Amino acid sequence: MASAKEDNKHQGIGIVGAGLVGCLAALAFAAKGFSVTLFELRPDPKEVTNEKNLRSINLAVSDRGIRALKYVDAEMADRVLEHVIPMTGRMIHDLSGKKQESQAYGLFGESINSIDRSFLNDCLLDEIRHSDINVHFNHKLIRLDNLSSEEKSPKMTFLDNSESTESKMKSYEFDYIIGADGAHSQFRYQLQKSMRMNISQEYIDMQYLELSIPSNTKGDSKFHIDPNHLHIWPRHEFMLIALANEDGSFTSTFFSPWSVIESFGTSSDKFVEFFKYNFPDAFELMGEEKLKYAFESQPRGSLMQVNAYPYHNPNGRALIIGDAAHLMVPFYGQGMNCGFEDIRVLMELIDKNNGEVSESFKQYSELRAEDLKTISKLALDNYHEMSSKVTNGWYLFRKKIDNM
Ligand code: FAD
Repeated sequence: MASAKEDNKHQGIGIVGAGLVGCLAALAFAAKGFSVTLFELRPDPKEVTNEKNLRSINLAVSDRGIRALKYVDAEMADRVLEHVIPMTGRMIHDLSGKKQESQAYGLFGESINSIDRSFLNDCLLDEIRHSDINVHFNHKLIRLDNLSSEEKSPKMTFLDNSESTESKMKSYEFDYIIGADGAHSQFRYQLQKSMRMNISQEYIDMQYLELSIPSNTKGDSKFHIDPNHLHIWPRHEFMLIALANEDGSFTSTFFSPWSVIESFGTSSDKFVEFFKYNFPDAFELMGEEKLKYAFESQPRGSLMQVNAYPYHNPNGRALIIGDAAHLMVPFYGQGMNCGFEDIRVLMELIDKNNGEVSESFKQYSELRAEDLKTISKLALDNYHEMSSKVTNGWYLFRKKIDNM
C-alpha cells in the first residue's frame, strides 16, 4: 500500500512569494511529499550583490517561530539557531545617555533571539535548492483564474522577467495554490475578487528609519553595547531600538509619527541635532555622518495592519498565509513568527486530515482567525508599552529643543 507521502506526490502545490513564510511553507509541503513549485518576484539573491543587500537587517525570532522551524526540519532549525543572538531582556536607555536599566523578559532566562533577516531567508532558500522544489525567480504574479470552478484547477499567471526568456506571460495550474506574497499581496487582491473575503487595512501614524551602530574595533568586545538585550530608547511619542548582529554591529530602528520626521524638512542637520539631544549615547556610537546619510538616503517605511477573513476560498483550493493574510505592526516582534506558526498549524491539520488539503484549508481559517486577531491587537498595544510604560518615569524631564 502506498504511504501518505507517496500519495501526496501526485498533488501539486504552487506557492507565491519566496520570503520567509513562503520558503518555510514550500519546505513544509515538500517534507510531506507534495510536489511543490515556488514563484518569486525578485531575482535569485545568490545572483544579486549590491550595497543594499549587504546591509544587515535583523529581526527577533521567538519560541513561536523556532517551534515551527523545528517542526518542519529540526536539523535546519539547529543550523539557524547557531547564528542567533539571544536577548534575555530589554535594556532601557535614559535621556542623559549615561544610565541603562536591564529588564529581564522572564524569571528563568527566557529569551527572544536576534537573527539576520537575509541570512535566515538564504538558509531557507539553500534548503530549497537541495530539495525537489521547483523555484522560479523573476516571476511576478499577475492574476489568478478558475478560483470558483469545481472542475478546473486554479491557474496562476505570471510576468516572467528573466532576461533569457522571450515569452513574458506564463500560466501554471496546480491542485492547490498558496499566497505568501506579503503586505501588498496580489494573490489576496485576486482571491478576494472571486469570493466574499473581508479585508481591513489601516495605516498607523508612524514611520520607521533603519540606522546602524558599527562594531567595536578597539575594545575587548566586538559589541559597543550589551548584545544580549533588545536596546530601547523610549521617548513617548518616538523611540529608538537596536538589536545585535553577529559581526558586532547593531541594526537600529527609529520609530516616530510622520509629523516628527517631516518637521525636519530636508535638513539632516536638524535631524542630527534632534537625535543628539534625545539619544546622546546612540549618537556617539552611530556618528554624525552616518546619521546624515541615513536621513538623506534611506527609505522611510510606513506601518499598517491588514486583516483578512477567511484565509481560504470556498472550494478549498487557495489559501493566504503570512503577511498576505495578517500584516501586523512590528512592535511585538511576531509578524514572521506568526507566519511560521501558520505553517505549523496548517501542517498539523493536514496530518489530522490524512493529507486532505481542501478540508485542512477550511479548518485552518476557522482555527487561526481568533489567535491572529488577538496577536495583531497585542502588537499595536505593545507600541505603547515599549515607547512609554517601560520607563518608570525617570527620563521624563525631557526638555524641548528650540526651533525644532
Ligand atoms: P514577505 O517577507 O514580505 O515576503 C513576501 C515575498 O513575496 C517577497 O519575497 C516578495 O518579493 C514576494 N512577492 C510580492 N509580490 C509578489 C508577486 N506579485 N509575485 C511574486 N512574488 C511576490 N517579525 C518578527 O517575527 N520579528 C521581528 O522582530 C520583526 N521585526 C520587524 C521590523 C520591521 C521594521 C518590520 C517592518 C517588520 C518586522 N517583522 C518582524 C515582520 C516580518 O518582517 C514579516 O512578518 C515577515 O517578513 C513576513 O514574511 P512573509 O514571507 O509573509 O512576507
